[in-house]
Amino acid sequence: MYNNPKFASSSFGCRVNEAEKVVMDKQMIGAGFFQDLKSPDIYIINSCAVTAKAEREARQLILKLKRQNPELKMVVTGCSATHWLRNNLWKDIPIDLLISNIDKEFLVSLIKKRFSIQSVPVQLDQLNEAGSDKFLSSGRVMVKIQDGCHRFCSYCIVPYLRGEPRSRRINDIIESIKVGTGSKPVPTPMHEIILTAINTEAFGHDSGESLIQLIDRVLKVTNIPRISFGSIHPWSINEEFIEYYKVLSRNPRFSNFFHVPIQSGSNKILRLMKRDYVKEDILEKLNQIQKINPFALIATDIIVGYLDESAKDFQETYSFLESSPINKFHVFRFSARQNTAAYYQRKRLKEPSSTEKIARSKALSELSIKKYQRFLAKQVGTTSQALFIGEVKAGFQKAILNNQILSWIKTDVSLRGKMKRVKITGLSRNNLKGHII
Ligand code: SF4
Repeated sequence: MYNNPKFASSSFGCRVNEAEKVVMDKQMIGAGFFQDLKSPDIYIINSCAVTAKAEREARQLILKLKRQNPELKMVVTGCSATHWLRNNLWKDIPIDLLISNIDKEFLVSLIKKRFSIQSVPVQLDQLNEAGSDKFLSSGRVMVKIQDGCHRFCSYCIVPYLRGEPRSRRINDIIESIKVGTGSKPVPTPMHEIILTAINTEAFGHDSGESLIQLIDRVLKVTNIPRISFGSIHPWSINEEFIEYYKVLSRNPRFSNFFHVPIQSGSNKILRLMKRDYVKEDILEKLNQIQKINPFALIATDIIVGYLDESAKDFQETYSFLESSPINKFHVFRFSARQNTAAYYQRKRLKEPSSTEKIARSKALSELSIKKYQRFLAKQVGTTSQALFIGEVKAGFQKAILNNQILSWIKTDVSLRGKMKRVKITGLSRNNLKGHII
């Protein structure tokens, strides 16, 4: 069908999706497809279904791309794709190939079959390309370590779409990191790996391995300058992990960034969400992390407007976040996803109005901005290992500090991809500034 098949891709939602997109891009390039963002023949979307908004955004992108180029072949995979396939919801969407999560690993062969593409020679120059990925081009690579979830939180559709937990073996993860940093098949210079999982708690349950063993091995047998986590789920931060972190926090290669999705600070709402912890447990764990390293950035996800969330319940969440060591939060407004427990609970539990949801979301977002600004101010005068990304602009270059905070460091030459020790000297309009020491 095509002499030189060109493709582009994008992903929605979580960092696991981003990690999968990176792998898909590499597989496509490895199979001879040419990555071309401007005029692709095939466009691949790795979709998300965690909120109605994420699903809507994927649908809007498909419609927009098809409007711009009716000849473009749309391939959609991921969670929305699985949901649409299962519930027959895609008939009105101009999709040429829909691939469920379970068949994702066969993406390349399914594309070749669907569009009658014969074997194409591999574009050698493409193998050297970092691609368009915003993380890849900065040398930060998402590495998926686990898929699936067993928790079935009452609002969440993910376990239905991604299935039971499956972990990658540590050896396999190490191998892919070494391949990425070595010379074959894609010699992308990697400066940071971001370990991503749907639920870190489930990592190793099926293989007898553990997160601590994984971190240990990555630090010992690879020379990757920095290792971080996309998210660490609340159940993974147990006594053993806290003990381990006391030592780990002193390792300059480990990034002191904890994205711990807690979803609510009200015990009543946590119970309704089936989160299986109370806010006091979380607070204790986060306080310990902060005590070990006061400069660790702790972030979270919060859902507002969950079923039966009264003004008093919301106030409880607000006060919890205000006084906890969490420095930054992403706020989501609850929307019931089909087939989840919450979808059925709506019959007996009152859902806050959209006006209430908007007001609560706004209040928490404002609190987050305030807390994050305070945390940024605390960085002034500190030193950190920083990974340089982007380009030099007006004598400064962007660099990511050891706790994942972005800063602008004085330099006349590009240090892109390099790690340097820096001192933060000032803060203006949310921008940290500093110099190399
Ligand atoms: S832990 Fe809960 S919110 Fe996270 S993926 Fe599993 S079911 Fe969904």
